[in-house]
Amino acid sequence: MPDVHEFSIADALATQVLRHTPAHGRVHEVEIRVGALRGLEPDAMQMCWDAVTHDTPLAGSVLVMDIRPWSLTCPTCGRVWESPVPFADCACGEVAPRPTATDELDLVSMTVEHDDDDEDEDEDEGPAAAATPDGGAEARERAS
Ligand SMILES: [Zn+2]
Repeated sequence: MPDVHEFSIADALATQVLRHTPAHGRVHEVEIRVGALRGLEPDAMQMCWDAVTHDTPLAGSVLVMDIRPWSLTCPTCGRVWESPVPFADCACGEVAPRPTATDELDLVSMTVEHDDDDEDEDEDEGPAAAATPDGGAEARERAS
């Protein structure tokens, strides 16, 4: 395996998602929120995700990545704005706005479908549909 840090992230994420997956459940979609500081490459991440989940109930699931942008602060005029890249000129002419970003990696939601096709009514999807790992919100608060 090449030295891809996405791989260890995908591996840890899959472990976490599997803990929230009900028995006989099949996961269709997993949504995560990632701070720009993680430097996550979406293509590499999806590839690693496919690799670590191929023989689990997560096989074939789509990983939706909400990558949080950089925040740029202009030291000259004080403007603050969001940017997908850490370096950009300010409208006032300042060429070195200060980039900041967060490093959160939160499991936002997961879509689970039950595999059994018997007629038993299975009323609600349960809390797993909106599973959020403990401490995710707190970490986000601290980082911003
Ligand atoms: Zn400015």
